[in-house]
Amino acid sequence: MDDRNVVIVGSGFGGAIPALRLAQAGRSVLCLEQGERLAQKDFVQDWSFKAQSRLFVTYTSKDYHVILRYGRGLGGGSLTYAAAMLRSPSEVFEWKDRDGYRVWPASITRAVMDPFYAKVEQEMDIVRASWSDVPRAGGIFGKMMAAMGKTADRSMYPIHDCLQCGFCMCGCPFGRKRHLGVNYIPRAEAAGAEFRVKCRVHHLEPDGTGWKVAYFDPWNVQRTARGERVVLAASALETPGILLRSKPWMKDLHPQVGKNLNQNGDVAFLWRVPDSLAPTYPFMGRNNAGIITYAFWDEHRITIHPGAGPPALVAAMDVFSEKGEPSAPMGVPFKHYVRDQYATHLFPSLAIGLVDGEGTVTVDGDGVVQFDLPLTDRLRAYIARVAGVGRQIADANGAELLRTGGDNYEHGDAHPLATCRIGDDGERAPCTPEGELRSHPGVFVSDGASVPGGTGVNPAHTIAANAERIAVALAAS
Ligand SMILES: Cc1cc2nc3c(=O)[nH]c(=O)nc-3n(C[C@H](O)[C@H](O)[C@H](O)COP(=O)(O)OP(=O)(O)OC[C@H]3O[C@@H](n4cnc5c(N)ncnc54)[C@H](O)[C@@H]3O)c2cc1C
Ligand code: SF4
Repeated sequence: MDDRNVVIVGSGFGGAIPALRLAQAGRSVLCLEQGERLAQKDFVQDWSFKAQSRLFVTYTSKDYHVILRYGRGLGGGSLTYAAAMLRSPSEVFEWKDRDGYRVWPASITRAVMDPFYAKVEQEMDIVRASWSDVPRAGGIFGKMMAAMGKTADRSMYPIHDCLQCGFCMCGCPFGRKRHLGVNYIPRAEAAGAEFRVKCRVHHLEPDGTGWKVAYFDPWNVQRTARGERVVLAASALETPGILLRSKPWMKDLHPQVGKNLNQNGDVAFLWRVPDSLAPTYPFMGRNNAGIITYAFWDEHRITIHPGAGPPALVAAMDVFSEKGEPSAPMGVPFKHYVRDQYATHLFPSLAIGLVDGEGTVTVDGDGVVQFDLPLTDRLRAYIARVAGVGRQIADANGAELLRTGGDNYEHGDAHPLATCRIGDDGERAPCTPEGELRSHPGVFVSDGASVPGGTGVNPAHTIAANAERIAVALAAS
């Protein structure tokens, strides 16, 4: 049996970052990753279901209205994300939920997080996009903001010499996106960490002085690795899944594990622009379309950024018009609408904002992860408020807001958070501010599951900075 100082589960932001810092601190580190070690040649310009299924794990909510997915492979979501890396606004860390509970620990503010954001920016070589890097859809969105007297900022990415081919979410076939597989992971390996791929962790068992990690190897044989410490970083869906499957051996597991699932306040929609702003060419350019507006942050605590994406993605977005066509998100008229409008008059957009996380992750009788994101009155009111801002922008620009799923909030999402959150209140938060599971010392959570609430912007940079912060506590423990 492998016996290490630390066993890490998952090699995305929450796993690769502690792997580097702990190896640098002289600890013996084993990281178990269920996905493959993918090389640049494995990333191809292919939006097919088969190609996407290799790169992502997808779950559907219990009542089928939301799909959540995360990236798999050595490097986790960094391989196939759209690579916007933004620091969360200060108010995110001060956010209080419906009960007046400050979801981030009082000791963590934006000023405290800034040095950790800076470390990630340095390791991943994150830079602001130049104006020539901003795809056409981003430029049009900037114009729409300017017409309202509002600003939009160019976003930050670990992307250099971008070819604007538009396949970031297939993994960058040209090696221009600096994912974890070209920075943190090789640096951790050089410092002595071992990454073992195609190894799927099932559960944990305490053994008195440490933890046994039960996993299936590439040949589906069950094996055990032992760590004095275990770091869970298998995503906000899988980390609680592993803990819930461990309940027979962790009987007093904290009751909040799997609760507080937050979809980062994501609300997706499309814009249909007038001829004066066309053509949109949303198939061109990086998938996160280069800019973001904070103009609605002070009043509504939401940010909005445009995107670019393939026709298949748009056709699957379940959009409908509140004014005219298409009135239903499927059927031949809808297909014709997408065919006629997609290339020239449509582009997608995502609003992200602060709303309480009221979803739940559970496991079924076979130990398979399930999730539920109920349409509570609070979530409905939030979606209606975001749609109101969208309409305001559309009306000011002679454009039209095309909503996805409307009030039923049917959409695909990629930003799950908070299912094993850090916090000051031992009743509400399963983990201490340093990421240690309160009910089971020696087990740490450092991925999106530990981030206690919405991040106000795309979450990867805050997940990464939080993992850097937790790694300091781990190295000292
Ligand atoms: C299409 C898409 C685009 C995105 N674009 C952006 C963006 O532009 N900016 C941004 O900030 N965020 C973006 N995100 C979100 C971002 O990718 C995630 O928030 C981030 O990767 C989460 O980090 P994590 O460490 O929590 O988990 P992940 O990065 O998801 O890593 C978890 C790892 O654990 C592994 N794992 C899971 N279960 C097990 C198990 N049982 N045993 C072993 N290994 C396991 C997985 O294979 C995976 O490699 C995007 C996501 C998607 C899907
Ligand atoms: S748009 Fe740029 S970062 Fe994205 S896949 Fe193409 S070259 Fe890579």
